[in-house]
Amino acid sequence: MDFELPSDLRELQATIRDFMLRRVEARAHEIEADNRVPQDLLREAAALGLFGLSIPEEYGGAGLNTLGRCAAYEALGQGHMGFGGVISAHASIGTGGLVRLGTPEQKARFLPRMASGECLAGFALTEPSSGSDAASIRTRAQKRGDTYVLNGTKHYISNAPIAGLLTVIAVTDPDQGTRGMSAFLVEPHATPGVSIGKIDEKMGQKGALSAEVIFQDAEVPAANLLGPEHQGYREALGILTAGRVGIAARATGAMARLLDLSVAHAQTREQFGQPIANFQAVQFMLAEMDIAVQTSRVLWQKVAWLADQGQDVRRMASVAKYHATEALSKVADQAVQVAGGMGYMKDSPIERFYRDQRLLRIYEGTSEIQKLIIARDLLA
Ligand SMILES: Cc1cc2nc3c(=O)[nH]c(=O)nc-3n(C[C@H](O)[C@H](O)[C@H](O)COP(=O)(O)OP(=O)(O)OC[C@H]3O[C@@H](n4cnc5c(N)ncnc54)[C@H](O)[C@@H]3O)c2cc1C
Repeated sequence: MDFELPSDLRELQATIRDFMLRRVEARAHEIEADNRVPQDLLREAAALGLFGLSIPEEYGGAGLNTLGRCAAYEALGQGHMGFGGVISAHASIGTGGLVRLGTPEQKARFLPRMASGECLAGFALTEPSSGSDAASIRTRAQKRGDTYVLNGTKHYISNAPIAGLLTVIAVTDPDQGTRGMSAFLVEPHATPGVSIGKIDEKMGQKGALSAEVIFQDAEVPAANLLGPEHQGYREALGILTAGRVGIAARATGAMARLLDLSVAHAQTREQFGQPIANFQAVQFMLAEMDIAVQTSRVLWQKVAWLADQGQDVRRMASVAKYHATEALSKVADQAVQVAGGMGYMKDSPIERFYRDQRLLRIYEGTSEIQKLIIARDLLA
């Protein structure tokens, strides 16, 4: 067994980490104040190839396997989580379905622009009445000639306000339950009948915009059906499984950054005439944070490796996501504690991580849903 990442992936991580810490963190106040990701930073991210991480080389991407992608996500997780969220929603759940299921024509049409960052992507499953219970979605896609007519509402859709392409899951045969759903490629800003609702006002992850997507007799060409008709639910679960490994990796990166910040603070902040790092209570918090980083990293690496061997990782992806995101919440809390009052202040990155990280236990399946998936598999 070799636990060392290959040197090219370590170099990629170093490049992304440097970009996130030197370029993006320097603009964090601007992103927080405007709730927008600066266009010039997106262009820099595009030049680094971050929008094409999961896209095959023939379409202009980096063609990384799961291990490579997740190594990149871990580095991405070290910086502003909103900025990282825009890229990962695109590169992970936004792009995953098309890369895996798209026809050569669909790929040629969209993937080059997605790899260059010209066309951002998102994934639309959740609806106001259907969150954890994804099998109960109501958005309907009715076949009419060589089009499908979509009606319904999706909400909390990441990147929707800026996305050029959404993978939308809709009901194509209401009598067949989860075997009557299909996936569609929808250009939300270029399809009559599709509108984007008000941008959500969120607790954190500023700059990562999400919104409702409303379909009113929206005609989508039949050529935009992604994968086989009526298999959209299964495909959606596959997209989410891959996404969960990525979230585990991002959470690991965020924890590593919080640990670095905490170690630096503990070594420089003095109380009672000495650095607070001398106090065992503080040392124990740092040690627990390190345990969380190390265990989460080993887990996502194992799941990524299994996925690249072609194994079914549904249960293990949930194990990794649950472990890393729950650990991150505790680590973020400990980082605030080590920093004391400073960790509660708006100009501290720790305060921002504390708010931003909370989302990771909710989207792409809550922690409870991860436990449900694990338990169901154990008992099957
Ligand atoms: C900022 C943000 C961005 C998002 N981006 C996207 C996106 O890009 N695309 C997309 O499709 N969706 C997206 N989502 C939606 C996200 O995946 C859902 O919010 C999530 O799946 C939970 O659904 P819900 O919010 O409806 O909560 P609910 O399903 O109502 O859950 C509420 C609570 O009940 C618990 N619960 C529900 N059912 C069970 C059960 N059977 N057993 C035990 N506990 C249960 C949950 O764990 C949770 O604690 C996003 C959400 C947010 C907040």
